[in-house]
This record gives sequence, C-alpha cells and structure tokens, in this order.
Amino acid sequence: MANKVVDLRSDTLTKPSDEMRKFMVSAEVGDDVYGEDPTVNSLEERVADLFGHEAALFCPTGSLANQLAIRMLVAPGEELLTETNSHIVRAELGAGAVFSGITTRTWLAERGLLKAEDVLNIARPDSGPYLVSTTAIAIENTHNFGGGTVQPIEEIKKLRQETQKLGISMHLDGARIWNAHVATGVSLKDYGKHFDTLSVCLSKGLGAPIGSLMISSKERISKARQWRKRYGGGMRQVGLIAAAGHYALENNIKYLKNDHLRAKSIAEQVSKIAPAVITPELVDTNIVGLDLSSLNITAPELAAQLKEKGVLTGPLGPNYLRLVTHLDLDDSDINLVNQVLPEILKSALVRK
Ligand SMILES: *Cc1c(COP(=O)(O)O)cnc(C)c1O
Repeated sequence: MANKVVDLRSDTLTKPSDEMRKFMVSAEVGDDVYGEDPTVNSLEERVADLFGHEAALFCPTGSLANQLAIRMLVAPGEELLTETNSHIVRAELGAGAVFSGITTRTWLAERGLLKAEDVLNIARPDSGPYLVSTTAIAIENTHNFGGGTVQPIEEIKKLRQETQKLGISMHLDGARIWNAHVATGVSLKDYGKHFDTLSVCLSKGLGAPIGSLMISSKERISKARQWRKRYGGGMRQVGLIAAAGHYALENNIKYLKNDHLRAKSIAEQVSKIAPAVITPELVDTNIVGLDLSSLNITAPELAAQLKEKGVLTGPLGPNYLRLVTHLDLDDSDINLVNQVLPEILKSALVRK
C-alpha cells in the first residue's frame, strides 16, 4: 500500500485541528445534567437560534438526536413515514421500534429526492381503531444514501402545507443540513421553519469530534432532556466537546463549498471515462455515489484496488461505491484520486 492515505470513506473521519483542540481545552465547563455547563448552554441557544426555534439539546450522536425527536412526535403504536433509504430506517438499527414502539412505513424515491405527492399518497392520519395512524414524517436533507442530494425547498413547503391540514408533524434529519444550506443559499431559518423537530450533526463536514443537537420547542426539548437521561445520555462537563461545536460553527461552514467542488471534480473525471457510472451535474454536495452496475468490476473489488493506491472508499452495496469529501482533504489528495480512479475504471470498461 502507498504511504499517503486519502480517506474518502466518510466525512465523520475528520480529526479536530490544532486550533479546535486549543479552543476545546480552554472551555468553561460545569455539570450539564444540572444544566450548569455554560458552553453547552450557549451552544444549545446558538443552534436553536440559527434554525429559528426556541430550544435545542446537545446529544452525543445524530442517531440519539433523531430518536429523541421522533419519540416526541410519535406515540407507541403510531406511525412515522420516511424514505426507504433514509438513515432513520436503515442505519439506526431499529431504534424507533426498540426504544419507542414506533412503526414505520416508507416511500421509495429516486436519489432520495422528496416529492410531496409520494408522501401524501401513503399518509394515513386518524385511521381509527383498526388501522395505524400516521403522526409524523421524517425528511433527510441532504440525503446520504441518495448521494448527498439536496431536497427541493418547494416540495418541503408543499408537504408542510398539506400535512399541517392533516395534523401530521414533520422532522428533519439534518445531519448534513449545512451542506444543503451552502449548496443552495437557502437559510438555515428557512429550512428550520418547516419542521417541528430537527437533528443536526457537528461531527460530519464541520469537523467536530463529537456532537449533534435536537432542535424544537421549549416544551419538547425539556421532555427530550428527560428521555436523554433515561437512555443514559446525560453528560457532565461536556463543554469541552460543545466548544468544538462552537468552533466548527464559527469557522468551518465556509469550507463546505470546497468539499462540494472537490466531489464534483471527482465525478467529472469519472464520467469522462465511464459516463454511465455518475452524472456530475447530479452531484449536489460532498458525496459521490458511483453506480458500477454497467462495469466489469464490483464495488468491493474497486475499493480494494483503490486501497492499494492509497485511496479508501466505502463499498455500500455490490455495485455502489461511496466517496465522501471533507475538511481534512487538500488539492493534492483530490489530484491523486483523479489520477488513480479513472485509470482503474478504464480497465473495467468491458461491459458485463
Ligand atoms: C451520520 C448521520 C446521522 C447520525 O449519525 P450518528 O453516527 O449517530 O451521529 C443521521 N442521519 C444521517 C443522514 C447521517 O448521515
């Protein structure tokens, strides 16, 4: 294996920079279970305010922030609707069912992209004594397994208008909402106002080592705070970590546009060799999802060959390889990828 390693498996792999670490060690702290950690309190206020909501709750993971949010919206035996490939149903190990007794139904969308109609077609509020009632919908923006796609704000608005009439709540899984904001220029408040609850991650493209927040009304956040403690997620002098979140929000949102440009450049180089594998115009943010089904190579095989050349990638299915750009990459890393990836693909061009 080559000496230099370019790690494109995920944007969670970023390590806190020296400046971020310095900022963390000087944080003022207190016991957050007592509500006395000033750095956590100010981070919660800051993030709630960014999205135009009353309150927020600091959580160790995005999964916990999602789960606390949907628990606040859906009672046991009631139903959450979400897209078939969303994180909430594919990557949280059934937490909604295990912890909250929530049932789910899903709609399938190309590249995960929201069409309000798809959701309204399966929504069944107030279903009476025999059928399960839909009480909430979760939307993922950007959509991870959809290939980092940005949800159209017009469809979000339309869904919000219609579901308000039906009394159905909306949750945003905004692990990468920062990327959607940077890619579209839609403000965080404009995203925030269409949802009853949100979850956002500081540990992905923003480069913090840990940290996510659930965002909602004061009432829901104070209930969620009890549930967080019940789940074992009450943390103590955690201002050390919240400080990394402050640092990330202050300094790192502006760098996401580089991640997007770099993802686009990888997609462009690949499509020159193998146009069926990726359409560069459809790469909205920092995720490049390669569809290898037309090529004579599987995703695990391609990942293994790239690894030999010092490039780590994520085979997420037999024919799907995910490459994610992030804060810890530079131009020379992307140059290496753009050199070795098209070369390997050339030799796999023989159609199956
Ligand atoms: C990463 C991610 C989460 C949260 O993941 P954790 O590992 O639990 O922090 C939630 N939703 C999406 C779409 C994600 O990509």
